Amino acid sequence: MRTFRRLLAACLLVVALPSQAALQIFACEPEWASLSEELGGEKVKIYSATTAKQDVHSIQARPSLIARMRKADLVICTGAELEAGWLPLLLQRASNRKVQPGQPGYFMAAEQVERLDVPQVLDRSMGDIHSGGNPHIHLDPHRLQKIAKSLAQRLTQIDTTNKTYYQNRLNDFQTRWQIAIQRWQQQAEPLKGLTVVAHHKDWRYLLDWLGMQEVATLEPKPGLPPNPSHLAGLKKQMDKQRATMILRTGYQQARPSEWLSDKTGIPAVQLPYTVGGSNAASDLFGLFEDTLALMLKAINQ
Ligand SMILES: [Zn+2]
Repeated sequence: MRTFRRLLAACLLVVALPSQAALQIFACEPEWASLSEELGGEKVKIYSATTAKQDVHSIQARPSLIARMRKADLVICTGAELEAGWLPLLLQRASNRKVQPGQPGYFMAAEQVERLDVPQVLDRSMGDIHSGGNPHIHLDPHRLQKIAKSLAQRLTQIDTTNKTYYQNRLNDFQTRWQIAIQRWQQQAEPLKGLTVVAHHKDWRYLLDWLGMQEVATLEPKPGLPPNPSHLAGLKKQMDKQRATMILRTGYQQARPSEWLSDKTGIPAVQLPYTVGGSNAASDLFGLFEDTLALMLKAINQ
């Protein structure tokens, strides 16, 4: 009997080790899954709750997501109310103490950086305005670098034994990222000062970084779908103040931007928006490379 117990214990140990060895990360969006991968490497196991084809403003708190969150050691999301419709529900239903707000296992990327467009007064009649400012922070590479630093610290806090590993991964990432930023800024020089029409305000930080300006959105108000009268107004606006391109993501409807493009001759461009949003955007580096390549192609047409 004792031998049997010892044998059983040994078996359990073998089974238990691999799953305990890797830190379980639940990422709300692909960009944070990708950043976790850069910093965590083989020490983490990452699950992304959404793909580039989904609109993260409106996700269902499905049982499969609850089950994933129940197992997580670390939850990394954008925050700033981007996931307001589903993250609080997941946290509540999963009732995993490790990842509740205030715990080390709860990491909100937007809280690590300064946000743009934080409203002075909150007026819901203006549409789906986020009180924490614009949450679409990941398309500014400088903010992303700051978030990387905070995330590496958090990984170390949760998993102290691998401190050196995370520090090395961060250093390596930062070196490559810094070189890439220099290259991207050079490439993007021709985009400086140009104006765009955006489907939704999800390019705010990208445009800010590149010195570009959004002059209108296809949505009449944030979160409200484009409608014919608003689009007709935009067509008139473009006759007077012509933008260089109309931007949308892969998860947004193509028709409104194609319509406006058709009426005005301004190119409509679909950008990857996040990792997995195009074949080339297979990681964070590819995401920025492809975004710039597509924008530069649009102005050279
Ligand atoms: Zn938004």
